Amino acid sequence: MPKLDLVIEELVTANRILAREEVVDSFGHVSVRHPDRPDRYLLSRARAPDCIEAEDIMEFTLEGDPIDARDRKPYLERYIHGALYEARPDVQAVVHNHSPSVIPFGVTGSKLKPLLHMCASIGHDVPLWDSQDRFGDTTLLVENMEMGRDLAKRVGPGRTALMRGHGAVAVGQTLRQAVFIAIYLEVGAKLQMQASTLGSIKFLTDAEVEKIINRTGPYTIDRAWENWCRRAGRKMTASA
Ligand SMILES: [Zn+2]
Repeated sequence: MPKLDLVIEELVTANRILAREEVVDSFGHVSVRHPDRPDRYLLSRARAPDCIEAEDIMEFTLEGDPIDARDRKPYLERYIHGALYEARPDVQAVVHNHSPSVIPFGVTGSKLKPLLHMCASIGHDVPLWDSQDRFGDTTLLVENMEMGRDLAKRVGPGRTALMRGHGAVAVGQTLRQAVFIAIYLEVGAKLQMQASTLGSIKFLTDAEVEKIINRTGPYTIDRAWENWCRRAGRKMTASA
């Protein structure tokens, strides 16, 4: 199979996994940088992730212009993806989601931090982006590059950010890694809420986070990926 087709199949799988693991529902999306054109990315047409097929995958410039839209309607919030690829040459995949457990941390000032070794991948610090700081009263949706770039600035060199009253983003150096981080961001948020009702939390130290991140490679991620593929009813392919 040509490289591009493999990447598209992997992106369909990523959509189905995120849906199955309840990181996305009818909304939310995942993209991957184009394997041959770093100035472009691949993202589905506006459709619920669990319904996405290979023919839904569209190609965009980093500015968010579709290359060959035909009659396919893109996601309004595609600017999140382009702005992150523009700001971060190391980033190969982006997830944007509204998973339920991350939302409370975006609106209370309670800081989301890793407390479980599997959640170290979310990074030491999960910054919060509040669209109101710069853009005032909006629909909270990232509907242009200016907002996308402001969000990307908040992500900085990190792996995740929360978006006040809206959701979160996760970025990865591979598609599998971005999905892994988005899933464990939701897991970590849920656990932190549960743990906080029991008492004060001992979070992972920065050094622990660093050590765990350094050893979370394909050995770990592919093991999860195989399991998630099976749960989502998708075949695991050799890494695209
Ligand atoms: Zn959104």
